[in-house]
Amino acid sequence: MLRTILLSLSLALGSIAASHAEGEFDKVQITTIPVGDGVYMLQGAGGNIGVSAGDDGVFMIDDQFSPLTPKILAAIGKISSKPVKFLINTHWHYDHTGGNENLGNKDVVIVAHDNVYQRLSTDQFIKAFNKAVPASPKAALPVISFNDRATFHLNGLHMQARHFANAHTDGDSVIFFQGVNIIHTGDIFFNGLYPFIDASAGGSIYGMIEATAALLQLTDDSTKIIPGHGPLATQQDLQNFHDMLVQVVKVVKPLTDKGLSLEDAVKLDPLKNLNGQWGNGFLNPASFLGTIYQTIADHK
Ligand SMILES: [Zn+2]
Repeated sequence: MLRTILLSLSLALGSIAASHAEGEFDKVQITTIPVGDGVYMLQGAGGNIGVSAGDDGVFMIDDQFSPLTPKILAAIGKISSKPVKFLINTHWHYDHTGGNENLGNKDVVIVAHDNVYQRLSTDQFIKAFNKAVPASPKAALPVISFNDRATFHLNGLHMQARHFANAHTDGDSVIFFQGVNIIHTGDIFFNGLYPFIDASAGGSIYGMIEATAALLQLTDDSTKIIPGHGPLATQQDLQNFHDMLVQVVKVVKPLTDKGLSLEDAVKLDPLKNLNGQWGNGFLNPASFLGTIYQTIADHK
């Protein structure tokens, strides 16, 4: 059973790496969704991209996978004739930073939290997927990193990146488009699907619960929310996601307290009331349980 869980997990994530090799990205199309105030959400494969386009140039949040860079730049070219000036990475994962090297080579200034710089510049290992991720080449690395906040002033907007401690990883940033009520959450928020939480990079379901609670305080019912994955969202969607995480801990913690193994916990199907709504995405219920079980067991 455990082998099955791990296998389905490595398949879920491995499919990203494998598709890379097999030219699967050839079929990916980039969709541009206007959010308002010159801000756009771009979807293709991997994490959602945020873009501010205006007279001062293009400000970009995350960049998906390397083979998609030409298509992403073509999509941006349809909303702006200006070059990409800045790229911020919401965290280090390769489905959000895969285009860094291409953009760095075009003199785009890459910015991220200190821990993103640290992880991109050294070899990493994602335990949940049994996947080694080698250090990125120099052109892919942030040239500016920050420890708490960084604010970008262009296109008449003030876009503030704020670090949230140990949620999806140890280097998560949320970008607030100040005054226009738009945010990009990175992978602190998966809209409508069970999230991947990278425990081996300092992530924790408890940190996800704290970060989403903080974001609920910082948003209102007219905030437009670009999630790390899934469709453009509202505060209600974020509330639903937060409530789901709280519920997951509530039903799983008694099982870890009893000392149940992951295999035995999976047999009990503790998330059965949530799976219909949340378990049809990137991680199936057993895989999701596999990624969070030890963190919940270790939590006192
Ligand atoms: Zn991620």
